[in-house]
Amino acid sequence: MTAPTTTTGPGGDVTGPHLTDADVVVVGGGPAGSCAALVAARAGLRVVLLERGPFPGSKNMYGGVVYPRILDQLIPQWWTQAPVQRWITRRSTMLLTDTQAMSVDFRSQAWAAAPHNGATAVRPEWDRWLAEEAAAAGAQVVCSTTVTGLLRDGHRIVGVRTDRPDGDLTARVVVACDGVNSFLAKQAGLYEHADAAHYTVGVKETLALPKATIDERFNVRDRDGVDIEILGGTGGVNGGAFLYTNLESVSVGVVLKVPKLAAQQRRPEEIIAALKAHPAITPLVDGGELVEYSAHLIPEAGLAMMPKVVADGMVVAGDAAALCLAAGIWLEGVNFAMASGMYAGESVVEAVRAGDVSETGLAGYRRRLADSFVLRDHRKLRRAPSLVLSDRVQHRYPPMIANTIERMFRVDNPAPKPGLRRILAEERKRAGVRVRDLARDAWDAMRTFG
Ligand SMILES: Cc1cc2nc3c(=O)[nH]c(=O)nc-3n(C[C@H](O)[C@H](O)[C@H](O)COP(=O)(O)OP(=O)(O)OC[C@H]3O[C@@H](n4cnc5c(N)ncnc54)[C@H](O)[C@@H]3O)c2cc1C
Repeated sequence: MTAPTTTTGPGGDVTGPHLTDADVVVVGGGPAGSCAALVAARAGLRVVLLERGPFPGSKNMYGGVVYPRILDQLIPQWWTQAPVQRWITRRSTMLLTDTQAMSVDFRSQAWAAAPHNGATAVRPEWDRWLAEEAAAAGAQVVCSTTVTGLLRDGHRIVGVRTDRPDGDLTARVVVACDGVNSFLAKQAGLYEHADAAHYTVGVKETLALPKATIDERFNVRDRDGVDIEILGGTGGVNGGAFLYTNLESVSVGVVLKVPKLAAQQRRPEEIIAALKAHPAITPLVDGGELVEYSAHLIPEAGLAMMPKVVADGMVVAGDAAALCLAAGIWLEGVNFAMASGMYAGESVVEAVRAGDVSETGLAGYRRRLADSFVLRDHRKLRRAPSLVLSDRVQHRYPPMIANTIERMFRVDNPAPKPGLRRILAEERKRAGVRVRDLARDAWDAMRTFG
């Protein structure tokens, strides 16, 4: 495998190649950027991929589970070479209150075999591997280089300004894959407005544990792994939590709605500490040595926050276009980033070959997103972010459900069993949930997830 071409960094001490003008400049060496660069380079275009970190992925974090089937088209049999920690064979959805826990636990050994389903992977390894694929296809990968602005010719975007001594780089098309809060998409005027309510902040601890301990605690063997998505455990702040197994570490974290976190004046590390102290979580993470603490924003609102994805001379992919799918039981960003990067690459090749890189010439990108799972899933699940993060789903339903189940299994002899309908009615009232709201939320959930 060819290592990405890297430079030592801006400020004079550049040992890498001098930047030459390109057909395509891709900004950001995350999954979106590397897939875009890979597709465009394979088609024979001159591609430069610019990454601000010392290597692609060095600055990147996420929860920990990637769903790579979209790579079937791009890197056949990717599973033979991808840097995977464990293959997910157990997937649990857990509901937590302060003292209770309820899980729906599913496992499938089919997912242990190729082509697999999900995998835990470490981003510095995953992103570096994808960038190496782009470099092997001919893309020039230039690291330690921050893009500081767009170059324009009238309306048209014609390149980027960087912090390198050799500075500006012109290109026929710029592919902005600079992640959440994309400075480039904003500078191009593609975001109408920014709203803090559209974002969550994700905070994660990586805790080292011996493989044998993880296997025993999570009831798995070999390279099998576990994905636990948690409703509750966020200390009263709207959001969710997760716990994933790597080979010799576990990732435990929370995703918190930004305005609620600010209003409650809670610190994320306190919330993770409380999550780890929960009686259902402690036995899984106990004794783990903290080897990494990281935090990052998530564009959570889906369709409600998506910018225009095409301008004259530029397309936007991945989190930069808010394409991460955060829909309660699903948190999928890497596959949406890889797919949108791939479609961006294909559309750029089409436009360059046709000699029209205007917004019209690049319109194939919007069409590809619309015809694929990327926008179809977002459309189908458009109500999910607001439903899942609503106060009722976050704070009233978990105790209502957990108390109902606790009473179902509690043996209060000499009293006879009260019957599910009665318990549910009493717990609904105790949780302060009106029948009308329950019916509306159930209907919304059916329409969203059905
Ligand atoms: C806490 C948390 C948990 C998550 N869990 C999951 C999960 O389990 N599974 C999943 O699929 N998704 C998850 N996601 C979402 C996922 O991380 C993102 O959707 C995905 O990383 C988006 O990829 P991207 O390539 O668009 O952007 P990024 O991965 O953010 O990459 C952007 C790249 O651009 C570079 N860059 C930025 N600005 C510049 C600049 N000006 N010049 C040069 N380079 C620049 C950055 O250094 C970075 O390498 C999670 C996110 C968070 C925060």
